[in-house]
Amino acid sequence: MSLLITGGTGYIGSHTVVELLKLDQDIIIADNLSNSSTVVLDRIKEITDKSVTFIKADICDFASLDAIFEQNDIEAVIHFAGLKAVGESNQIPLNYYQNNVAGSVTLFQVMAKHNVKKLVFSSSATVYGENNVSPLDESMPTSAINPYGQTKLMVENILFDLAKSDSEWSIACLRYFNPIGAHDSGLIGEHPNGIPNNLLPYVAQVAVGRLAQLQVFGDDYDTVDGTGVRDYIHVVDLALGHVKALQKLDDIEGCQPINIGTGNGTSVLEIVNTFKDISGKDIPYTIVPRRAGDIATVYADASVANNLLDWKATRDLTEMITDTWRWQSKNPNGFES
Ligand code: NAD
Ligand code: UDP
Repeated sequence: MSLLITGGTGYIGSHTVVELLKLDQDIIIADNLSNSSTVVLDRIKEITDKSVTFIKADICDFASLDAIFEQNDIEAVIHFAGLKAVGESNQIPLNYYQNNVAGSVTLFQVMAKHNVKKLVFSSSATVYGENNVSPLDESMPTSAINPYGQTKLMVENILFDLAKSDSEWSIACLRYFNPIGAHDSGLIGEHPNGIPNNLLPYVAQVAVGRLAQLQVFGDDYDTVDGTGVRDYIHVVDLALGHVKALQKLDDIEGCQPINIGTGNGTSVLEIVNTFKDISGKDIPYTIVPRRAGDIATVYADASVANNLLDWKATRDLTEMITDTWRWQSKNPNGFES
């Protein structure tokens, strides 16, 4: 039996594939390479000494997915594939709805056709919107503040309806907080196309000299130092959350939302200072006005993941930033170098 990993050559997918290979899982990656490179496959092989089956396929293409399920004995799917840039989603919302929502529906249709009803879905803490107070827990109301967030919320709602319509489905909707870090080999990590939107890749690219300085979006929030607070989680801890979710799918009835975060908050300036200490590089920054749509503080109540999945994040901020820096300094141009 194989696991199908959509988006498996991407940042979180590749780290999850490494952890699954360690358990001798048979892996098929389906990815259209719109935001990743096949070099990742060589790096995964270098880390694990194991190979995966890679199929270049788009989740919006029913026939391609159908052929994958036809030709392989797939027992479960981890669905990472999607577009993820919040700013871009405001500019080209239809691409986001097509890719993330229509693509997901296509995948679920093919899964249903082939009677594969075990799924782990990449959701996001963005579904908590801007009106809940941290720590955020799964019982809180959800809402969306941009098209990207809307796509995550829509897919979650589709999955709740699907699970209600057919009790054979077992679905874990993992609501990620802020994934950072990289595999400790320095061989795989995050390398966004163009100018990064997220804090950590931005800071890492300033440290490595690709970008001149960081803009800190606001220092007048009601937080420890006025800058925004987020729940950063090591991507390997996140990957291990997927492994646990897969192992526990049989115990999950219907569609279960599960926060994957550490439960701790860290400010922008705490990140900058820790990065500076660990890398020994200067990180010049200027304070600029708040970014539209940002809220002061976001962190998880991770007790559902602790209790239901027997999962807890174990890697601290030092490890997250050490691993980010190792990856960035070894691969200043990402997978191109
Ligand atoms: P990523 O861009 O590195 O990986 C996504 C992968 O999906 C890429 O390899 C891309 O080529 C592929 N892909 C995109 N559209 C596709 C399609 N139509 N068909 C096939 N493949 C397609 O992103 P990531 O950071 O690894 O994120 C993985 C998932 O987790 C995404 O769904 C994202 O929305 C979600 N998520 C990410 C974060 C984060 O901060 N990184 C936070 C919360 C949720
Ligand atoms: N941030 C910043 N400068 C940047 C990118 C992000 O000051 O160039 C801040 C942002 O305002 C937020 C935190 O860093 O407080 C994390 O932002 P990110 O986009 O990484 O995650 P999200 O806001 O989506 O949780």
